[in-house]
Parts: sequence; C-alpha cells; structure tokens
Amino acid sequence: MEPILKIENLTKNYGAIYAINNLSLTVNRGDIFGILGPNGSGKTTTLSIILGIIKQDTGNFTWFNKANILDNKKIGALVEQPNFYPYLSLVDNLNIVAEIKQVSNIEKEINRVLELVSLHERQLSKFNTLSLGMKQRLALAALLLGDPEILILDEPTNGLDPKGIVEVREIIISEAEKGKTIIIASHILSEIEKVCSHVAILQKGKLIKQAKVDEILKIEDTIIISSDDIDVLYEAIARSGMFQKLDKIENEIHIILNNDYFPKDINKFAFENGFILSKFEVKKKSLEEQFLKIIK
Ligand code: ATP
Repeated sequence: MEPILKIENLTKNYGAIYAINNLSLTVNRGDIFGILGPNGSGKTTTLSIILGIIKQDTGNFTWFNKANILDNKKIGALVEQPNFYPYLSLVDNLNIVAEIKQVSNIEKEINRVLELVSLHERQLSKFNTLSLGMKQRLALAALLLGDPEILILDEPTNGLDPKGIVEVREIIISEAEKGKTIIIASHILSEIEKVCSHVAILQKGKLIKQAKVDEILKIEDTIIISSDDIDVLYEAIARSGMFQKLDKIENEIHIILNNDYFPKDINKFAFENGFILSKFEVKKKSLEEQFLKIIK
C-alpha cells in the first residue's frame, strides 16, 4: 500500500469552534476514500487545507510523502463550484480551464472529457442552457481535464435529482475503475456506501472511525427467527456454535453468525432439526445505521 495523502494531527479553529480537531488519516493509492459527516463536521475545511486553499493552525499533511508540495497537475479537485462563463459554450469554457491547467492536446482532451460525462452532443450549447445535472457533469469534465490521478470531490451530488445522482456516481465509479485515487466528502451515507472503498467518519471536527466500507458493512447482519418451539430451538442453536451473538428477545431469536456461516445455513439447520420457522428475516445493517450509532 502506497500512501498518497497522510494527514497528521491537523487542527483548525475559528475562535472557540474547532472546525477540525487533531485529525489524522491516511489515503492509499487506489482508495476511494469517503469523508463522511453531518453538516459542520469539518469535511470542507479538511479538503480546503489539503488543497492549500486555507492553512491549518497545527499539524501537517503530505502528498506523495513530500511535505507541503502540492502538484496540481496530479490532483483534480471540485471543492467550490467552478465559475463557468454563462454565455460561452461548453467547449469554450473547457478551453479556458484547459489553458489555465496547461493541458496538452487541448482539443483531443476536451473531446475525451466531454465523452466521459456524456455532454459531447451539447458541446456547442451555452453554459446557461444546461440543466443542473449537466452543469455538475461539466464541472466533472473540467476536473478531469489533463487526466489527474487523484480526484477530490466535495458533495459531488448535492442538489441533483435521482437521475443526476446516478449519472455523477457512474462517472466517479468509471474513474475509480481506472485505478485513480478518489477522495469524496459527503453527508449522504448511501453515496459513500455505494462508491467508496474506505470511509472516515467525522463529527465536530474529530475522527470518530476510519475503516474499509465492506468491513463496516460486514459487521453483523442480524437473523431474526421465530418458531412455536422457541426455547428448544434457542437451546439447539446455542449448542450449534454457528453464532457470534445470540439473544432471545420476547418470542424471537436474534442471531449474528460467525464468519463461517450464511443466513441460509440457519434455515437449513432448523429444517434438519425438525423446527418449522414461523419467521425468518435477515436484517442488514446499513452504513446508515452504523453511522447514526457511531455519532450518537
Ligand atoms: P457541510 O456538510 O455543512 O458543508 P462540513 O462538514 O463541510 O459541513 P465545514 O464547512 O468544514 O464542515 O465547517 C466545520 C465548522 O467550522 C463549522 O462549525 C463551521 O461553521 C466552521 N467554519 C468553517 N469555516 C469557517 C469560517 N470561515 N469562519 C468561521 N467558522 C467557520
């Protein structure tokens, strides 16, 4: 694992408010790293510091293990809404961005990014004729100019309708599949869950938890079963050793399986031992539940 970004003990306060408080985390090459937190938890402040837009009070961060060197060509960021010219076409707007970014092969590169965000057909439309979703995709196109290896996105689906959200998500996933390192800040748990490989959960500027998304999700689907012979069934399952956690709650048995078993094994076990289940339910623990529990 090659660290791309290391943040160590970063703190930024505004008077009595700690926007971020002693924050440390590491993003490795190829991670799709979600920074998840409610409003005001310090996500934008964190991204602004690592992009050199504002300065931290204490602590430090390194990109590619080089202190304080920010190679803008390697990083494409969408933290503030880009200022496109309303009466210029998409191509003309992208031309201006490409010039600023000193992108080579400008024409080819603009065609490439317009294809990627499915705006090629609208390339000669004026910016102010685009829908909100299209404007957001154009912002992504601008960010992708020059093919940066790291993408940083602050609330990339904010304000979009469900179709727009899916479109933006698909662009992010297709970039991720090329092996890019992507950092996404969001307060929308399902977004992080669908896109990210890793997540850091922030609350009031503090890191509450950092983990792989599938590790957080893996923890514990609960199987809820019921039967007329609930006490006998409970004893049988207690002897089976299939669980990490077993509870009898009123007339239900709640089971968290150990890693060797799947929910269907419980069904099979009950059937083979002569129990008829009147209830069989698998309660998936979404990141949302975990998140709400964590920040409680
Ligand atoms: P949101 O999801 O609402 O965008 P966030 O997680 O990005 O929130 P930040 O914008 O980083 O959070 O803000 C963190 C805290 O720092 C908030 O309490 C905010 O009010 C405060 N803050 C941020 N910038 C400033 C500023 N320039 N002056 C004073 N306080 C600020």
